[in-house]
Amino acid sequence: MEIKELLKELTEAPGISGYEMDAGQIAMKHLKQYSDEVEIDKLGSVIALKRGDQTGEKRHSIMLAAHLDEIGLMVTKIEDGGFLRITSVGGIDVTILPGQAVTVLGKEAIKGVIGAKPPHLQEPGESGRVIQMEDLYIDTGRKKEELEDIVNVGTLVRIESEFTELSNGCVSSMAMDDRAGVAVLVETLRRLKERKHDWDVYAIATSQEEVSGLGARTTAFRLQPDIAIAIDVTFGDGPGISERKAYPLGKGPAIGLGPNFHPKITQRFRDLAGEYEIPHQIEADPYPGGTDAYSLQVSRAGIPTGLISIPLRNMHSTVETLKLDDIKRCAELLSIFIARLDSKFQEELKCL
Ligand SMILES: [Zn+2]
Repeated sequence: MEIKELLKELTEAPGISGYEMDAGQIAMKHLKQYSDEVEIDKLGSVIALKRGDQTGEKRHSIMLAAHLDEIGLMVTKIEDGGFLRITSVGGIDVTILPGQAVTVLGKEAIKGVIGAKPPHLQEPGESGRVIQMEDLYIDTGRKKEELEDIVNVGTLVRIESEFTELSNGCVSSMAMDDRAGVAVLVETLRRLKERKHDWDVYAIATSQEEVSGLGARTTAFRLQPDIAIAIDVTFGDGPGISERKAYPLGKGPAIGLGPNFHPKITQRFRDLAGEYEIPHQIEADPYPGGTDAYSLQVSRAGIPTGLISIPLRNMHSTVETLKLDDIKRCAELLSIFIARLDSKFQEELKCL
């Protein structure tokens, strides 16, 4: 399957943090094709294993982690008149919400829209005010009594968006953060079918990154890999965004550099990208956090960790935009990195 179709299928499946089941089934279906074993664990992470060719008693392994969950909304109250009040699950910019179509994932899925007060009816001074979550409501067209049979406090709400193909290999949708990373997992395993590798590869679509980093933490503890790599998205460049904090789309994945990442892993990525002429960028990040990489690094006694990110515009919106080439390059770099893992590199990691 082409990356574009894979990404479309992955982004269309709901997977709000803590409730990743639908997205998990899709991720599992695709990972299964290229792995020896796959399962969904008790906390919602999908764990795929592709065994390496190593022999001997102690098996070495690398863990790749891309988060499965997405940001979303949750019902806090059913108002008289049938309007639903909401709160966010994960970091949502409230200003993008008015006017959005949503699906309320109750006992049955029902359509709704996030309403906003018409400009004609706003009080003086109200139009310039920053919108708060408390100002918003979902209108489903149903009465309170009708809704009470289907919706509870705590019912999840998915913000709708259409997977849109733009020009020059760009695509846009919600939940690209981080289904793009899950697509990288599938594509990396696919490429490893044609590349000999000694180490076992665990490809994990992790649950709950957006709220706590839970899935990365629990699966790294269970699997105890020798090395772990997080695959996520980073800020794409665009109008009004500082060049220092953003990365152009189409110039390759960004390799994380900073205390959260083992210097030998960062260097190995840079060397291999140079050797194989894979376009790439360097993302200097002086503080840990913001991705699964921190949960991986501090697992048990500490795991040498790396991060590779896909540049993405409009992060945490319904039009998260990226370039497909960056996904392919990310998978290519990872598959080469994995194929070159050996006991010599394992030793190098010990001497910082
Ligand atoms: Zn993310």
